[in-house]
Parts: sequence; C-alpha cells; structure tokens
Amino acid sequence: MSRRMCRTSRLDYHRSVDYLPVFLDLRQRLTVVVGGGAVALRKVELLLRAGARVRVVAPELHPELALYRDADRIEVRTAAFEPAHLDGAMFAIAATDLPEVNRAVADAGGARGIFVNSVDDMANSSCIMPAIVDRSPIVVAIGSSGQSPTLVRRVRTQLEALLPARLGELARFAGRARARVQRALPDIEQRRRFWDQLLAGSVASKVFAGNDAEAQALLDAQLATAATAPRGEVYLIGAGPGDPDLLTLRALQLLQQSDVVLYDRLVSAAVLERVRRDAERIYVGKESGRHRVTQQRIHALLLEHAGRGLRVARLKGGDPFIFGRGGEEIDALVAAGIPVIVVPGITAALGAAASAGLPLTQRGLAQSVTFVTAQGDGAESLDWRALAAPGQTVVFYMGISQLPRIVGNLLAHAAPASRPVALVERATLPDQRVLAATLRDVVGRAQAAGVAAPALLVVGEVAARAAGAAAEIVARGVGSA
Ligand code: SAH
Repeated sequence: MSRRMCRTSRLDYHRSVDYLPVFLDLRQRLTVVVGGGAVALRKVELLLRAGARVRVVAPELHPELALYRDADRIEVRTAAFEPAHLDGAMFAIAATDLPEVNRAVADAGGARGIFVNSVDDMANSSCIMPAIVDRSPIVVAIGSSGQSPTLVRRVRTQLEALLPARLGELARFAGRARARVQRALPDIEQRRRFWDQLLAGSVASKVFAGNDAEAQALLDAQLATAATAPRGEVYLIGAGPGDPDLLTLRALQLLQQSDVVLYDRLVSAAVLERVRRDAERIYVGKESGRHRVTQQRIHALLLEHAGRGLRVARLKGGDPFIFGRGGEEIDALVAAGIPVIVVPGITAALGAAASAGLPLTQRGLAQSVTFVTAQGDGAESLDWRALAAPGQTVVFYMGISQLPRIVGNLLAHAAPASRPVALVERATLPDQRVLAATLRDVVGRAQAAGVAAPALLVVGEVAARAAGAAAEIVARGVGSA
C-alpha cells in the first residue's frame, strides 16, 4: 500500500466538505426536468450533451423545447408536476420559479432517493450544478457550496484564461499514447516524470498548434530516449517591457513549470515574481559594452541545465526575437538536439507606445514603423536617409548613450529640426517617464532630465502626441493608463 493511501485512512486530519464533487455518467439514464421555460431549455441541452434521456414536465413549453420534442430528442409530460413523473429517473432538475413546485420535486426526489437540483434555490436542492470550464475530456467544475455565485463566475473566468483552448486535444492525444507509454516505461515514477515533461513541453505545444503528426514523432523520440537519458528543454520566453500583466498566458504557464530560469537585466522584479517559487534563478544580465556574462556562457548554461533533463526558461526582456539574440540561442540549442519553445513577448516599442499613448502608425502621419538599434558595429551602415524621411515612425532601441549621434545623423540627412520625438524611459513600469521634445532640443532636455537606460527614442509626427498625453499618463501611473 502506498503512503498516500495510508494517509486517507487518517480521517481526523481531513476537514469536512459540504459537497462532494462527482462526475455523473448519465448516458442513456433517465433524467427529469420540471419546468418548460428558458432556464429549463438550458438544462435540457446540458443533459442532452451528457447523453442523458430527458423527460420534461411542464404545462407549457418553450418553442425550442417543442422542437426537441418533435424531433424525438426528449419526452414531454404536458402537466403540472406529480411525484409519479420521477418514476425511473436517476436525477431531477427543478427549473421553475415557483418555490412550492421546487419543494414538491425535492420532496418527491428525497422520498425516492434521487438527487434533485432546484435552479437558484438551494433550500430545495440536494445537489448543486457547478459552473463548468469545458475542455472536454478535461472538465473543471466549480462551486462555492452556494456561498457566492459571483465568486464562482470570477474563478471560472480566471480558469478560462489560464487553461489552453486545446487542452482537450492534449488529453485525447495523451489517452491514445497511454498504453504504449505504460509498456515502454514500467516504472511508475519514471512514467510520471515522462508525462509531466511531455504534457508541459514541446509535444504539448505541437498538439496545441494542431500538429498531431509532429507531436507524435516527438513523443516517439522522447519515449525512445526516456528509458535511458532524461531530456530537458528550453523555453525562450519574451518577458515584455516590465509590467507583469503584459506577459502572455503561455509565458505564465511555462514559467510556472520551469525548473531553472535564466533571466536578463531587463526582466523586471514583478515579472520574476511570476516564476515558480522553487525554481532556481540564474542572473545572466549583461551591461552594454561590458559583458558580464558572455553569450557563449549563456549558451553553455542553457545546454548544461537542459542536458540534465531540466525544463529551462530563458526569460528575456521584451520579445526574444527583437534585438534579443534569441536567434543565436535557438541555433545553439537546436544544434545540440534540445527542443525549444519560443514564446513571443510585447516588445519595448509596443509597450511604450501603449503606455505613452503613441499610435506607431496613424493615417496621414505615419504609414510605416521601423525598429532600429543604434548600437553595435552596424549602426554606421544604417540607411540614415531612409530613417530621416517623413511620413513614418522610427523607434530607436538602446539609443540613450547614442542620442547625440542619432540626432546628428537624422539632421544631417535632411530631417527637419522641428520633427517631434519622444523619449520613453522604463516603459510600462511604475516609474515610467515620458519626455516630449523635437530633434532640435531633445539632447539638452534628455540631459537635463537625466533620462537613463532602458529608454526608447520615438521619432516622427506621432511623437507629438506625447506632449499632451505624457504628463497626464505619467500622472495617472501605469496600470490605470
Ligand atoms: N528584446 C527587447 C529589446 C532588448 S534591447 C525588446 O523586445 O524590447 C534593450 C533595449 O530595449 C533598451 O536599451 C531599451 O532601448 C529597450 N527597452 C527594453 N525595455 C524597455 C522599457 N521598459 N522601457 C524603455 N525601453 C526599453
């Protein structure tokens, strides 16, 4: 007997619950719905979906219930409720707004030993219909023992957001592979670990993407090696510009199941709080010009941890593929045969645009938007004439130390000194600052204000909106913006 089973016998340690959640197999079993209105219709449809035989008892019928009757999908007793209507039933729902009818159904059900739910009428119910998050065959039932239907709805909304839309497909995929995995991995602990990794990682994301064939191939490959070496994987995750609410749902899901997290300097403390509590955190921040952890070292760390069979989150500011060297990291991992999942993030320019109220394109003002980095060897070879042209928005990343040079180059290539610019410092973070200026005065004003990295320079007519919006948005604070 396992330890877990022993524990269940120590009843003293268990708190009592008001209701025991169970999933009923109602296929081909008779259920009775008392009531013929819209509420009854909803319940009838729920029961039909569960494969139940349905008898409706009501003096009058909703037109759609009549359609079900005409199609022989339900049996109807056109009458006021009598206990005999429950004959042969397993379960009954009273869906009338008449408490005395509900009570009659509850009493008759009680006498016959069957469960009765009276809609929105706890006093006349011996069971509760839970709120449902349906990812069949995965079904989550939520109840509050009648204490707070509003809270139940909130929990449901949260779960709806948290659970991947195609979770059901994943469950079916796992179901199909179950017997095979059981044969290949007879050890229960090893099997549990295998499923844990599989359902969380790259196989799952293939299934979520609707690519069952590739998922199948990956599963086969992982099953073949599982008996010998454990296999880790890497999640290359965009952490967004700072506000943790801007993480994607997938980023959250993967952060919650990672064993190790390698993170950059730009990843905010608030985002790090969303990482699984017991995950190991490794700081691999780099400072511009003074690389404290080299890119080679980061690759080595990723390979080392994934090679030990761990799930490694590589958390990068913004989006991993925008000035993030994400491409180099996946190349190194793919070359080593390690599965990688890439999760996009909100890049700094989009975060800044939203929180400073700057539409990056706008009819008549900006027909295109360009993201440029002003740093590195390539900066001199940028097409400054194109970047200085009107009718567009240009966003410079990593530009703060280069600000005089950027402005000088734009002016030298015929951009007017009156062209509006905005500097957005620490975009989406609680201490975000927005500075509205023009090419003529931005260098002096940035210096005076002490603007520091991380910041973005937005150049173009749309930046003028920062002049009006900035003060207001800064005052309101991020989050309410
Ligand atoms: N991959 C990141 C960019 C990394 S380059 C992304 O997609 O956003 C680093 C530069 O991004 C910084 O120098 C700065 O220009 C910009 N940046 C990142 N986070 C920022 C923030 N919260 N506010 C303003 N700029 C930011």
